[in-house]
Amino acid sequence: MKILRTISQTQNLTSKLRSKNKIIGFVPTMGFLHNGHLSLIKEARKKADIVFVSIYVNPLQFAPTEDLSRYPRDFKRDEKLCKDAGADYIFYPSDEMMYPRGFSTYAVVEKLTSGLEGKIRPEHFKGVTTIVLKLFNIVQPHFSVFGQKDAQQAAVIKKMVKDLNVNNKIVIAPTIREADGLAMSSRNVYLTNEQRADAPYLYKSLQYAKRKIMLENYNRDIDFLRSQMSKLIKSRKTATKIDYISFNDYDTLEEIKSLKNFKFDKILVSLAVRFGKVRLIDNIVIKR
Ligand code: AMP
Repeated sequence: MKILRTISQTQNLTSKLRSKNKIIGFVPTMGFLHNGHLSLIKEARKKADIVFVSIYVNPLQFAPTEDLSRYPRDFKRDEKLCKDAGADYIFYPSDEMMYPRGFSTYAVVEKLTSGLEGKIRPEHFKGVTTIVLKLFNIVQPHFSVFGQKDAQQAAVIKKMVKDLNVNNKIVIAPTIREADGLAMSSRNVYLTNEQRADAPYLYKSLQYAKRKIMLENYNRDIDFLRSQMSKLIKSRKTATKIDYISFNDYDTLEEIKSLKNFKFDKILVSLAVRFGKVRLIDNIVIKR
């Protein structure tokens, strides 16, 4: 496995690989890798001749009040994990390389970014889509793998690729969880022991909603479900604030206000909850 630190070196290599008809699979990450990331690399490995991972903590997607400076990093550990998971190359650029002085062009997906995470973090998706499009242009993958864990991000990137005719297939891989149900996240290391013990209630509440919706044949009132989920989460004293609990169409992210006469194939139930300063997100998909 090799580490590439410059854009020109990476583009030259990927152009060569493409001309030799090698299939390039790509997994963009912010590093501090866990089994969730590794499952994406393994997924890419199944169909690609060459697997690229990028490790870059993208300042553009963090608000000034967020955790950019303390975001966990450990490149040596990530390097070993990538190698063991079967990656061929890591693209590991610097901030100066990605955002040189005078940088002033952005990729923006409208509408899909206005609710859920976008409402709480208004500049976040502009940062995500800009860096992801830049990475696509550098790595030139045939397909890229993203996690269902960040459901809105996955929908937004699929839309960008479709609207801007980016020649790259987006594959969404399932959320990997700890044994007690907590979705794996680089941010879980911020949790105190007490917060860590309470955090699995996020998934418990999502499972509760799924069970109710399926058992009661899509007749359950959404406000009722939301208030029950909220009660369950608030029963844990370290869960200090629920940013949202939302029911949306999986593809369009249109908010679902009632399940009656419900015309969607898949429902996305998603939430964001703060445990003190640590903000966790999770979701579950309910298929018809
Ligand atoms: P990040 O490093 O947080 O930017 O995440 C990089 C990629 O890993 C994104 O596509 C995430 O959705 C995905 N990811 C993060 N956590 C998980 C998880 N627990 N299971 C599956 N994919 C994940």
